[in-house]
Amino acid sequence: MRDPHSPVTRALLVHRTEDEAGTERAGLAWGALLGPGDVVLLNGDLGAGKTTLARGLARGAGVEFGVKSPTFAIHLQYAGRMPVHHIDLYRVQSAGEFLELDVDEWFYGEGVALVEWADRLGAEAPARAMSVTLLDLGDDRREIHVTGPQAKVIRWAKAVGGVASLPER
Ligand code: ADP
Ligand code: MG
Repeated sequence: MRDPHSPVTRALLVHRTEDEAGTERAGLAWGALLGPGDVVLLNGDLGAGKTTLARGLARGAGVEFGVKSPTFAIHLQYAGRMPVHHIDLYRVQSAGEFLELDVDEWFYGEGVALVEWADRLGAEAPARAMSVTLLDLGDDRREIHVTGPQAKVIRWAKAVGGVASLPER
């Protein structure tokens, strides 16, 4: 069902990968579509592939080397076609801690923001963001669910040879 309060129609893309390289390839394809102001929210259990996908997204956004997990730093910044902020909120517990972070620069600056454990953002998550959830299907198989503004989801779907649908609510 559509949310009558939503300013834009949202759509869903489901993409499966068979191994780590497949997830990174999907990120590379989607990262190539990113531009200034884009935000990608990444959720999924530990080991689901958030960092792997973020690495592909960063490379697709023009970052040439050295994308690793920012778990201990919370925030790492890379130079791509535009600044790429890679954020990991795993260790951010309280709202007070959260307010000390430079969220405005990450989400409303000139760069792209890739956010692991993005559920921690709660209502601070920008409505325009692409929201990605990774599910571990066992062994090396992963299912990647992408929701976001319909036009963007359709472009992401084409980039991996898939199709977008309206999300189930
Ligand atoms: P997260 O950031 O969600 O904790 P990582 O990307 O750091 O996850 O780790 C994912 C782990 O799962 C890596 O060890 C990777 O090799 C493994 N893996 C196996 N299959 C896949 C897949 N299809 N996509 C992504 N990672 C995979
Ligand atoms: Mg990670």
